[in-house]
Amino acid sequence: MPPPTSDPFELVLWENVAYLARPAGRREAFELLKRKVGTAPAAILSASQESLEAVTSQGILKSTFAGKLRESAEIAIDAFGGDLESGIRGSLEDAKRALRFFPGIGEPGAEKILLFAGRHPLLAPDSNGLRVLARLGFIREEKSYSKTYAASRSVAKSLPAKPIILQEAHLLLQQHGQTLCRRSSPRCDLCPLATECAHSLATEAADGSLLPAKSRRGANGKPARR
Ligand code: SF4
Repeated sequence: MPPPTSDPFELVLWENVAYLARPAGRREAFELLKRKVGTAPAAILSASQESLEAVTSQGILKSTFAGKLRESAEIAIDAFGGDLESGIRGSLEDAKRALRFFPGIGEPGAEKILLFAGRHPLLAPDSNGLRVLARLGFIREEKSYSKTYAASRSVAKSLPAKPIILQEAHLLLQQHGQTLCRRSSPRCDLCPLATECAHSLATEAADGSLLPAKSRRGANGKPARR
């Protein structure tokens, strides 16, 4: 599901609104923030700690993340005069540097905000999407997350350089990683990509079967019994 906004400052808030909340809880927190507090920097700064914590309590560390919402508002006002839209109008590198002033926003987070704000055609995969790209064999999994992430930029270059298309690709990779291609026990037996997937084919070979997972399914699409 896409983020609930394309406004750059709201996307910063979206990253900080409910730490480690379930997706539905995070959306609920964001809706509550909009409804009860407002998402303008000045509105957040004038809100009580209690009302900010009512929002961030959808996740863990409610007090810390209420502080991060407040800190985000302060940065938006002090560094960008309350207008982050204008603050990220420069080059990609300048825009990323600007976004990284905010709490919880590293380079992948900054790229994701620029993607969903429709500003730059980036893929910006999250950890789920990155895992899918590595397992499919589009990139090599490196020891450091940042190196693996950097490798994903070459995949983006093979797609049309349009934010709307790359947003779709980002969301599809994310969904695939959250549902079938989970970190532990990926459901290769149900995956339509199994016959093309480097990880699945390697697992099949290691299992001693030359047949890819897909071809071992029964007529109902479920794994066939051996
Ligand atoms: S076949 Fe398995 S490892 Fe490959 S993309 Fe599908 S679920 Fe992931």
